[in-house]
Amino acid sequence: MYDYHVHSMFSGDCKYTMEEMVLAAIDKNIKSLSFTDHIDYDYGSGNYSSEINFVFNTEDYMKEFKKIKNNYKNQIEILSGVELGMQPHLVDKIHELLPLDIFDFILMSVHTVKRQDLHEGEFFENKSAIKSYEEYYEDLYTCLDKFDNFDIVGHLNLIDRYSKYLNESVKFEDYKEIISEVLKKIISKGKGIEINTSGIRYGMESFLPNLDILKLYKSLGGEIITFGSDSHKPEDIGFAYNDVIKLLKELDFKYLTIFKNRKKQFINI
Ligand SMILES: [Zn+2]
Ligand SMILES: [Zn+2]
Repeated sequence: MYDYHVHSMFSGDCKYTMEEMVLAAIDKNIKSLSFTDHIDYDYGSGNYSSEINFVFNTEDYMKEFKKIKNNYKNQIEILSGVELGMQPHLVDKIHELLPLDIFDFILMSVHTVKRQDLHEGEFFENKSAIKSYEEYYEDLYTCLDKFDNFDIVGHLNLIDRYSKYLNESVKFEDYKEIISEVLKKIISKGKGIEINTSGIRYGMESFLPNLDILKLYKSLGGEIITFGSDSHKPEDIGFAYNDVIKLLKELDFKYLTIFKNRKKQFINI
């Protein structure tokens, strides 16, 4: 098993040490794991962002990471990674803010749109449901267009998790065009997506992305997919891994992707 979306105490919303997460991963027979701790500059102005610090100290992180990596090197391979919260206005300054080259793996996620967070619903206020979708995917597209220094897009359709804030439901057909452009951009850049299994734990009916998006990705020629449990607790590491592999096979994907030193490796499934 390979899990490329795992948090530790270096994320403001996770209280477990790297060691606790690694021990759980070893217990579950994970071969290779990437930490993807949050760095989100400009998370918005809601309560969530004032209570939680979404930026960690990279020197402390690397020091702890190297210690844990070395201590458990005979049992598991671990990678230093980051879940980089991206917005169009951050693209130009990100390399000044963060030494991205220190990481083995970079997951780019959109958690905040127009400096308004999705989590507490600020972004959805006074906006039609379809407008929310358009703005979310347009911003993601702009980030993809302007920014190259990442490997995988995290939970591509995160907006679906916040349907409770929408005043009406949105059909896939209504935003299929923009999501196609997003997927084409990912493919043309040689980047990929993850299947993030946290949706199920948050009460959604499917993984992120859902079946419609995975089929569209496949039909457009998309091949690069990582597995990510998005664990914030040891027990969630590797969550629903076998179900994901089964789904990938059903959809005729041939392999899962892992990374080493920012380079792709394909694992036949
Ligand atoms: Zn995330
Ligand atoms: Zn995450």
